[in-house]
Amino acid sequence: MNPKYEAVIGLEVHAQLLTDTKIFCGCSTKFGVPPNTNVCPVCLGHPGVLPVMNKKVVEFTVLMGLATNCVINERSIFARKNYFYPDLPKGYQISQYEKPICEHGNISIESKDGSKKNIGITRIHMEEDAGKSIHDQGDSTLIDVNRCGTPLMEIVSEPDMRTAEEAYLYLTKLKQIVTYLGICDGNMEEGSLRCDANVSIRLKGEEILGTKTEVKNMNSFRNVEKAIDYEIERQIDILEDGGKIIQQTLLWDADLNEIKPMRSKEEAHDYRYFPDPDLMPVVVDAKWKSEIASSMPELPERRRDRFISKYSLPKYDAEILTSSRELADYYEKVLKVTSDYKSASNWVMTEVLKVMNDEKISIKEFPVTPGKLGNLIKLINENVINGKIAKDIFPEMLKTKKDPQEIIKEKNLVQITDIKEIESVIDRILSSNQSQVKEYLDGKEKVIGFFIGQIMKETKGKANPQIVNELLKTKLFHAHEHD
Ligand code: ADP
Ligand code: ZN
Ligand code: MG
Repeated sequence: MNPKYEAVIGLEVHAQLLTDTKIFCGCSTKFGVPPNTNVCPVCLGHPGVLPVMNKKVVEFTVLMGLATNCVINERSIFARKNYFYPDLPKGYQISQYEKPICEHGNISIESKDGSKKNIGITRIHMEEDAGKSIHDQGDSTLIDVNRCGTPLMEIVSEPDMRTAEEAYLYLTKLKQIVTYLGICDGNMEEGSLRCDANVSIRLKGEEILGTKTEVKNMNSFRNVEKAIDYEIERQIDILEDGGKIIQQTLLWDADLNEIKPMRSKEEAHDYRYFPDPDLMPVVVDAKWKSEIASSMPELPERRRDRFISKYSLPKYDAEILTSSRELADYYEKVLKVTSDYKSASNWVMTEVLKVMNDEKISIKEFPVTPGKLGNLIKLINENVINGKIAKDIFPEMLKTKKDPQEIIKEKNLVQITDIKEIESVIDRILSSNQSQVKEYLDGKEKVIGFFIGQIMKETKGKANPQIVNELLKTKLFHAHEHD
């Protein structure tokens, strides 16, 4: 990026709320049902019907507002945003305009170098979703209105971000918060979280904002980052060539990794917003607000800090373990069986996350329950098995979903701690590897690794490593004496 310039980015995020029913009618929000079946006269916008506010939508949005330090407006009103589109049978979308339910909040982000920054939240408001146009089935466009009336929460940020990376961090944090709150599943690929990026550039040191463009159609966090970087470069090229930025909406093409124009931006007044006469103002009084606040779960940062203080985990571990609520829950369930906090953390951060990445599964789908992983760690700590054997048992647990005890029994993997037995193995190894013994005595201490390898091979990895170590050293020391 040309160092003369600075980018300015503000994000508008739509989050689909996890309510069972739609925002203004009792239709189900269930995904994947046949087209045009989750509908009724209200969400189809038939004349004469009246919308009824879904209380859960208010509660979820207030929860989000509280989690992001917003002011919760006691009175907020719904407005009609008028426009024509085939997937919007009513001819208007019910949204909030002048008086949204939440305002003036912030989300803090932390860069890799540890520096923190607050990104302002301008507003969070409630609205309904529109239907879907389907263009890929035959010659004509088909309409599915199941999504009409699905509750959305729109989170509008201040133009506080300066790099695509900051936008990425902000989105990651936002997703973390909504999923911790359990109000949205945060799945960008499936469209339950959608992000429009507003991008402008200006000369460094300039105070006035440049003309912005709005980039849409990114279906992953990485694509948001890529699209913003692309758009920043595109704008710089235009200015460097002596051109001007036109305010417009652009579409990201993930296959071509490029941006193309959609339509010139409608001015806000084109929507002819006006208060919806069919809906009462939403009133969130102090009592209701405090009830909602009392249902607030522990949020990611708090939980991370608690993991550091309560379980003495390094910040790095705590950060990863609390990256999602489910993973943090999994970890804490492991701790119901073992109190070896650090081992549990190591197992989750390495073995569990590795398998999740390789198999592309979520922690919810993970075949080894936290209780069974806890058992495995406990068996190591009780010296029933050693760490190496545990690493062999774990894949077996993944495959069979069996308890570690069962696998240990079946495969006869109980650790050998019998000193006599280990001694006789060591004696055998030493006497059949005289030249290595000599090397050791000549000062080549590294051969000790060779001996351990041989002993472990002989005992099929079952010998207790501490005992092997100690006995081996004494034996070799004695060999010295006889020298
Ligand atoms: P519009 O009227 O086009 O909807 P808004 O002022 O409501 O624009 O802002 C929409 C989003 O665009 C917000 O997230 C805001 O932070 C961001 N934004 C506004 N102006 C700029 C700008 N000049 N550069 C980048 N982002 C901007
Ligand atoms: Zn309906
Ligand atoms: Mg706006």
